Amino acid sequence: MSDPGGGEGSIAERKMRFLFALRSRGVTDARVLNAMEQVDRGLFVRGLFADRAYEDMPLPIACGQTISQPTVVGLMTQALEVGPRDTVLEVGTGSGYQAAILSMLARRVYTVDRHRRLVREAEVLFAALNLRNIVAITADGSHGLPEQAPFDRILVTAAAEDPPGPLLAQLKIGGIMVLPVGQSDAVQSLIRVRRGETGYEYDELRPVRFVPLIEGVSYD
Ligand code: SAH
Repeated sequence: MSDPGGGEGSIAERKMRFLFALRSRGVTDARVLNAMEQVDRGLFVRGLFADRAYEDMPLPIACGQTISQPTVVGLMTQALEVGPRDTVLEVGTGSGYQAAILSMLARRVYTVDRHRRLVREAEVLFAALNLRNIVAITADGSHGLPEQAPFDRILVTAAAEDPPGPLLAQLKIGGIMVLPVGQSDAVQSLIRVRRGETGYEYDELRPVRFVPLIEGVSYD
């Protein structure tokens, strides 16, 4: 039986299995692996499931949301081809884990979530980890962030039926956006959009399953 990367053993052993699972499932970019080694997923999972933070599975977080599966985080980050001078927009802060990884690779990360509570909790973690290049904002990310646009890279971690128009418009020429598209409960596809001089090119990366992108903001 293959172990998904956690469960038993010391924290050091679990972390080693975590990184091994990432590599064996296609996360091969050295910068992405390094970022995922540095950012401790254990800090972003709380309560009942904290014990399973180093397993390769999505886990529940507050507000009925989920922290994505580490392999999916790795593959999405890799597909985004983030460079050290890039400004990145992430839609769907959730636990803040993905934003923390992006912050190790990019110049600046804007991350937005529709749940104010998630944004606040993520901000506490970013401060504790001294990740100063992340700006977390409570907003409906399907409109993007017009005031900070355009972006070199956009990563969406909740599924829409189609790529939201404002996000396409806020992508720089030469920019890349990675996002899941499809019906919320059906199988979704992870797609990569490249914006060229004359239009957008799409390629389909793999089937995925994300929580839906929902309109409006929740101030609970
Ligand atoms: N990237 C996160 C996981 C995201 S789960 C992590 O690393 O933990 C998806 C998140 O998208 C949820 O927190 C949900 O509240 C958020 N979301 C859904 N619709 C949204 C919208 N329109 N604007 C902003 N955030 C949204």
